[in-house]
Amino acid sequence: MMGRNELSERLVIANEEKARLEAELILANIELDFQNEEKKKRAAELNLANIELEFQNREKLNRARELIIANRELDFQNEEKGKRAAELIIAGKELLFQNEEKEKRAAELLLANTELVFQNAEKEKRAAELIIANKELLYQNGEKEKRAAELIIANLELIFQNEEKEKRANELIIANKELTYQNGEKEKRAAELIIALKELGYQDEEKAKRAAELIIANRELLIQQQEKTRRAAAEAKKDEFFNMVSHEFKTPLTNIKAINQLLEKTTDRANKHYPFILNAGHSIKRLEKLIADLLDVTKINSGQIDLNIAAFYFPDALTNSIANIQLTANNHEIMLENSADILYAGDQFRIEQVLINLLTNAIKYSPEAGKVLVKAKIESGDLVVTVQDFGIGIAKHEIDQLFQRFYRVSETAMLFQGVGLGLFIASEIVKKHNGRFTITSEPGEGSSFSFTLPLPA
Ligand code: ADP
Repeated sequence: MMGRNELSERLVIANEEKARLEAELILANIELDFQNEEKKKRAAELNLANIELEFQNREKLNRARELIIANRELDFQNEEKGKRAAELIIAGKELLFQNEEKEKRAAELLLANTELVFQNAEKEKRAAELIIANKELLYQNGEKEKRAAELIIANLELIFQNEEKEKRANELIIANKELTYQNGEKEKRAAELIIALKELGYQDEEKAKRAAELIIANRELLIQQQEKTRRAAAEAKKDEFFNMVSHEFKTPLTNIKAINQLLEKTTDRANKHYPFILNAGHSIKRLEKLIADLLDVTKINSGQIDLNIAAFYFPDALTNSIANIQLTANNHEIMLENSADILYAGDQFRIEQVLINLLTNAIKYSPEAGKVLVKAKIESGDLVVTVQDFGIGIAKHEIDQLFQRFYRVSETAMLFQGVGLGLFIASEIVKKHNGRFTITSEPGEGSSFSFTLPLPA
């Protein structure tokens, strides 16, 4: 157990320790205070330094801005200098060129100078000679003065004469002006005449050309005329020949026909020769038709085809022709779609001839078809008759030529019998009745042959 003394001692020590610690604390506090003061000072200094730096920065910024502006100014000045330098280079070149020119000019001037120096020397020589000549002249002048006195007298005389001449000259000038004016007029007239002459010359040339052309054209016409006359004569001969031959054929053919008809009647149909007799009968008919056509052609050509005009019932012509052809047309049916029930004044025989020709063709040129259509109607005061088939048709470019004598479409000419006279004769008959033909056709589909006959109003 610790005694009171010991405790007090310890307390004293603790107190002393405490006092020492407190002293140290105070010291430390002082020290801290001092440090704080120092820090505050330092902070104030730093603040100042900061302000100073900010100020400097601003200054720098200002300076930088100024520098940028100065820089731009410099750039601009540099550009201007560049331009000026380019201009100076050009001006330099110009000066160089001018200098060269000047040098050339100087060289020329030098030459000219030398020339002048030489000329001056020459002139000096000449001056010396002139001085001598002058003296001579002075002497001569003395002489001349004498002569002048004489001349003055002569001159007075001449002045008088001149005055007289001037008067005359004035008169002449007036006369001259008159003449000049007249000449001007004459020149104008002459120029006009020259132009007119040229025009005439040109017209003459044109006329000559035209005349030459006319002569050539004339010759051409003459040749054509001669050719036509020659052809017409040849045609007439041919027609005459056809006419004669056709007539010559007619009599024996009539005999043959009679014999053939007799044979046909007297031969039994079962007889093996009967088909030959029939065949011969067909050939005789063809020959008869050919002869009749040839005779018609020669009649048409010599203008001798006369019509027997009489009024007839038009449907009769239609039915007669159809019946005639239907007899031998075994594979086709000819259908009368429309018949114009009128009396028509024309040549019935010839109209039937036209119809028979159209029907024969319609059947001949439609071997694959089974029918042929016929119609007759009245349209705008005309009688229009149409025969339509469904056969081989005709190409467009051939249609206009079908009515020429002996014309046959070349592609089909070899395939079908015929001589190319039927349509020629038909069209002439229709023309004689003041009518006309129209054809519409489509190759491979068929054709429509129509003729129009005018009816009396
Ligand atoms: P042909 O029949 O004797 O040759 P045409 O004068 O009657 O003479 O006819 C002239 C030509 O017109 C014929 O060769 C034929 O080529 C053509 N032709 C006439 N009719 C028809 C038709 N219906 N279809 C096609 N072609 C035709």
